[in-house]
Order: sequence, then C-alpha cells, then structure tokens
Amino acid sequence: MQKTLNFDYLIVGAGFAGSVLAERLAGAGARVLIVDRRPHIGGNAYDRYDDAGVLIHPYGPHIFHTNSAEVFSYLSRFTEWRPYQHRVLASVDGQELPIPINLDTVNRLYGLNLTAFQVEEFFASVAEPVAQVRTSEDVVVGKVGRDLYNKFFRGYTRKQWGLDPSELDASVTARVPTRTNRDDRYFADTYQAMPLHGYTRMFEAMLSHPNIKVMLNTDYREIVDLIPHGHLIYTGPVDAFFNHQYGKLPYRSLEFRHETHDTAQFQAVGTVNYPNDYAYTRISEFKYITGQRHERTSVVYEYPQAEGDPYYPVPRPENAELYKKYEALAKAQPGVTFVGRLATYKYYNMDQVVAQALATFKRLQERETARPELVEV
Ligand code: FAD
Ligand code: UDP
Repeated sequence: MQKTLNFDYLIVGAGFAGSVLAERLAGAGARVLIVDRRPHIGGNAYDRYDDAGVLIHPYGPHIFHTNSAEVFSYLSRFTEWRPYQHRVLASVDGQELPIPINLDTVNRLYGLNLTAFQVEEFFASVAEPVAQVRTSEDVVVGKVGRDLYNKFFRGYTRKQWGLDPSELDASVTARVPTRTNRDDRYFADTYQAMPLHGYTRMFEAMLSHPNIKVMLNTDYREIVDLIPHGHLIYTGPVDAFFNHQYGKLPYRSLEFRHETHDTAQFQAVGTVNYPNDYAYTRISEFKYITGQRHERTSVVYEYPQAEGDPYYPVPRPENAELYKKYEALAKAQPGVTFVGRLATYKYYNMDQVVAQALATFKRLQERETARPELVEV
C-alpha cells in the first residue's frame, strides 16, 4: 500500500484570490494544492521581463492602490514597495489632457483660465439634471454635462464594453472622479505603491511554504477526481464552474498588443487614453509604472473584445440577475467556496480581492475544525 498526497484544500486559480487563501490556510497548518491552467502564478497581475529585459504586465497595466491599512500591511509581508502615483492623459481634440477631469482639463480644453471656485460653477452650469443616477451616462452628464461626457467618456466606454454608458451601471464610470483642483493623479488612495521587485516575486514569496504545492498548466477538471482533497476554493468564472447551465455570463475580454521601442521614453505619462480614435482604448508604458531604468521601452495597447479570456464582469442589471442564479447554485455547494473577481462576478480591484480573500479565510477558519486524515490507497 502506498500513501498518496492528501490535501485539505484544492484551490483553483493562483491569482490574488487563490494565492492569499493558499498562504493564509497553509500558515494555519492546512495542506494546500493550488492549481492554475496558465503556465504561471499571479493570475492577471503576473509580470515578467520581456525579450528586451523590460518588466512588463502581460495582462495589462496593474497599478496597486488601496485605502485599506490591513490589505497594505498584509501584502507588505511579501514585498517591499516603490511609491508610485499613476497619471493618465486622454487624447481629446488634438490635445493630451488630464483624466480624471480636473481644473486644468477644462481650462486647456476650452482655452479658459478658471479658478477652482469658478470651475465648480462651470460644472454646475453645464451639468444635466438627473433625477435618479442609475447608469454610467447619468453619473457623468449629471456632474460635468454632455460635452465633456461625449469627449471623454462616451466613446471610451462604448469601445471598452461594447455598450453605451446608458446600458451600464453607474458604478462603472463612477470609478473615475471629477476634480475642481489641479490634482492629476489617477487614484486618490492612501496607499499607492508598486511591489519593488514586481508582482510575480511577491506571489512567489506568498506561495513559498512547505504546505503549499503549486501545479501549473493544469485545468482543475483534469485532476479534481484524481487527487484526494478536502474543501475546494474556486476563483475562475462562476458560470464555467456550472457548465454555463443558465447560459453564458458576459465577461468582457481584451487583446493586448505589446511593443518594444528603441527609445527610452514613448509617451508623457504611464497611460494615455484614446476615447475617440483607434480600436484600442489606451496605451500604457511600463517603465513609468515599475520605475525600471532601461535604454529601450515597452508599451501595451488594449483592444477590447467580446470573446476571449474573461477579464471584466459587465455591471448591468440583466447580468446581475443572471449572476444571482449562479450565486444561488454556488451557495448550495457546501464543499466549495467561490472567491475573486471572476467567481463572484464583481468588478474588483486587486486590493478588494485581497480583502475579500482575507475575509473568506476568517470564515473558513471559523467553520473548518476537523481535517481529513491521510488516505491510504
Ligand atoms: P485572476 O487574477 O483572474 O485569477 C484567476 C485565475 O484562475 C487565473 O490565473 C486563471 O487562469 C485561473 N483559472 C480559471 N479557471 C481555471 C480552471 N478551470 N482551472 C485552473 N485554473 C483556472 N486592479 C488594480 O487594483 N489595479 C489595476 O491597475 C488593475 N488593472 C487591471 C487591468 C486589466 C487589463 C485587468 C483585466 C484587470 C486589472 N485589475 C487591476 C484587476 C485585477 O486584475 C484583479 O482584481 C485581480 O487580478 C483579480 O484576482 P483574482 O484572483 O480574482 O482573479
Ligand atoms: N472611462 C472613460 N474614459 C476614460 C477613462 C475611463 O470612459 O478616459 C470609463 C470607462 O467606461 C472605463 C471606466 O470608466 O471602463 C472605468 O475606468 P478605469 O480606468 O477604472 O478602468 P480599468 O482600469 O478597470 O479598465
């Protein structure tokens, strides 16, 4: 008789959701197998050096920002940080203007010289009355009026989502604030920093524990019936887990076009948005984001797609309805926990996924007392 490996937890997906849970559970004494169908850990936050030796984010630019001291201090166990405040310009009417819309955006776009106080009056004068803010159009026209909406939001959103802003929940464009001052940072969070040696190194540190085994290039369905395990933690798309039995839950995809240029600098800031021209939404230049010095530079163009790897849940009422049906199925599976952006169909940033995983760990700890014994076969 031969003893086989026996895992207390099988975790599907080695992104933030799966890796945080693997680290927490292993630290609490559980034996964990974490499986990812991709050839690497880190999920969409994975980074690597490209052929030119530039650190890139293969799945698009990932900038870490959070207001949560708990999340920041938890991740600080696995990485040092480099302070970084992201700046974005939008290419509009032949100029590159700050987005989020601020005092300088308005002054430069319209050739004005307003003060912060006057721009507040300006916004009030152009804003459209919206009785109840429901959609992504309502949010913007209700704050800055139709012209700024058309120039900065309508085209970008239609490209990014394949939907008009009036068809998307308010929460989507509400991610981007409006400012009356000259603050041109994309985020206003308390903590804004990048892992000093990159995300992948941080994930390696999280998963480097004798209780954690990592299996890559493997869809969990290939091994789930072969490897004895206790509780399952699933971080992939929730509809796929249930074989799309209620139909496909829409996830928006992207195609990334990576380029390296023989120049030290390609553009003026980390990201330039193209709301109205081209098939891509934005170009990001990694060296701004990572702080790397290199004589060449690498950039990525993002082309939104309906089909392909699932990247974004699509926040709108009919999708929330369909997700509810899958959520009910998920809740009826006591042996499985669903966590992360794809499995809970939430447009979460990295820090929100970490917070969700930490909260899930606490719940699992309360619930799990007994652990299965080694199985003899
Ligand atoms: P994921 O990272 O998607 O991990 C899920 C993993 O599960 C994947 O690796 C997948 O391969 C694996 N998997 C799925 N199904 C299976 C299966 N059947 N078998 C085995 N493995 C499976 N957030 C920020 O905070 N700041 C940003 O600047 C930012 N920029 C972003 C830019 C883009 C283009 C995108 C798409 C997202 C961005 N995000 C950003 C969001 C961030 O990527 C997510 O919040 C975070 O990565 C989600 O982690 P997760 O573990 O839930 O999911
Ligand atoms: N958005 C826009 N114009 C911009 C930037 C953002 O219309 O210049 C809208 C668009 O709908 C986008 C959403 O605001 O999907 C959220 O923007 P964010 O930069 O947070 O998107 P992400 O980085 O998650 O792709």
